[in-house]
Amino acid sequence: MSNLRVCFHSYSERFVKRFLSKVDVRDENECWPWLGAVSKKLNRGLIKFEGPTEYAYRVSYKIFKEKIPKGFDICHSCDNGIYCNPKHLWPGTRKQNMEDCIKKGRNSLPPRFEGEQHPQAKLTEEDVLEIKILLKQNRTQKIIALQFNVTPTSISYIKRGKTWRHLL
Ligand SMILES: [Zn+2]
Repeated sequence: MSNLRVCFHSYSERFVKRFLSKVDVRDENECWPWLGAVSKKLNRGLIKFEGPTEYAYRVSYKIFKEKIPKGFDICHSCDNGIYCNPKHLWPGTRKQNMEDCIKKGRNSLPPRFEGEQHPQAKLTEEDVLEIKILLKQNRTQKIIALQFNVTPTSISYIKRGKTWRHLL
């Protein structure tokens, strides 16, 4: 971790300690496996501590790099969602992220169209996780819909589990 600097702009010191206790921190160029909870379906590490559930690799990016720019996804150069070496993470637009997946022929995708892989989906998995968090915070469906540029019906479907059921 020689060249890595931990930042506390997004999380408390307690949170950062907890996060690091669940990461197998290896050489700075190696992949760092997440040792905590994993969503098997999404093949991504999950952390829940002092707040909503988040993807471990996104937390890693925020702790070691910076806040995630609005509208950007965090992409993995090593292409495995359970790893969280911040050196292997980069912010990309949704389009870049999708192109990257296609280019690499990512094989961790579920076989059926589900969620954001559906050709008509306007929301990414990250968006839906955020929407679920906002719903829990009792934001109105109308406001959330405006924020994500979708219809209030889409938000209502997410709330009732009619769509995006595979997400936690
Ligand atoms: Zn990696």
